[in-house]
Amino acid sequence: MSAPAALAPGSTIGILGGGQLGRMTAMAAARLGYRCVVFAPEAHAIAADVAADWVQAAYDDAAALAGFARQVDVVTYEFENVPEAAVAECLRLKPVRPGVLPIRIAQHRLREKAFFRTLGIDTADYQPITDAAEIAAATALPGILKTCTEGYDGKGQVRVADRTALAAAWQTLGRRECILEALVDFACETSVIVARGLDGATRCFPIGRNDHRGGILRTTTVPSGLPAATQAAAERYGVALAEGLDLVGLVALELFVTRDGRVLANEMAPRPHNSGHWTIDACATSQFEQLVRAICGLPLGPVDVLTPSRMENLIGDEANDWPRYLADPAARLHLYGKAETRPGRKMGHVTFLRS
Ligand code: AMP
Repeated sequence: MSAPAALAPGSTIGILGGGQLGRMTAMAAARLGYRCVVFAPEAHAIAADVAADWVQAAYDDAAALAGFARQVDVVTYEFENVPEAAVAECLRLKPVRPGVLPIRIAQHRLREKAFFRTLGIDTADYQPITDAAEIAAATALPGILKTCTEGYDGKGQVRVADRTALAAAWQTLGRRECILEALVDFACETSVIVARGLDGATRCFPIGRNDHRGGILRTTTVPSGLPAATQAAAERYGVALAEGLDLVGLVALELFVTRDGRVLANEMAPRPHNSGHWTIDACATSQFEQLVRAICGLPLGPVDVLTPSRMENLIGDEANDWPRYLADPAARLHLYGKAETRPGRKMGHVTFLRS
């Protein structure tokens, strides 16, 4: 069978999801001459503000999904909690890139960790927690108890020191299917973002150093200052994951670097990632352009770092400081146009370029 044809500029990309990742993807797509159509259920989708068209409907509205898919040449998604059935509905009519398997895996933490292990990607010790017997036998302690589904940015997680605390935490999380992960005493966190093209070619962005507070990414610094061996290990894992998922598009793999130099996978996201926002201002190709290139069958772009940088998220009312960033010649300000400011909500980011 011959390889699918490239989608030339002028083609239309469908994006499932209406948030900032979709917004920045649509902006990168427009720069290359593509149109985007956004599918999102919310009343105001910030991705739709910068797209050619918008289908506002629920993810279980099969007719709306089919209408959306008919309007576009390829479908992608900007967050991994899009229901699998919605993605499958689009796939009946158009190619979906990165695909269905990446979200099936990414939506379930136990499935995800097991998948990493089958690919030879190292993780912290972990075990399922679904009943009292598993709590009584738990050994991955001290640890973090996480719900298998629907957790993000530190939500649905409780740190536990021992089995008593574990039993209480499981109650707090509603006795849902959970994973207990051993607490990693890491030196730092990083992530590798890998693009894989229609021809199977892969390219990894240089890794940065990620700092989290309260489970939310606060800053990414590039270069990371980590040894070359860490970049190599991150790339090895990232490429193994992209190939293991047989994806076309992007996948980000969040990693812990332990004090003795080991690299352990935490979780993955088959989409652009917050830790790659620096690439818009400080890399030869942005992660959003790379996604467009990959899913449209274009050659992947170069990933050279143009200048050292530090990306800072603007969370909640931190975005009100925008005049200060505009006045700073080293700052590149990105605001997402969200109508409502809420504590913990990502409102924008700023990339500081360092000479
Ligand atoms: P997650 O929602 O799994 O991405 O976790 C959010 C953040 O919590 C991570 O970026 C880490 O800072 C912290 N964290 C999660 N799992 C662990 C772990 N097993 N050991 C230490 N810190 C963790």
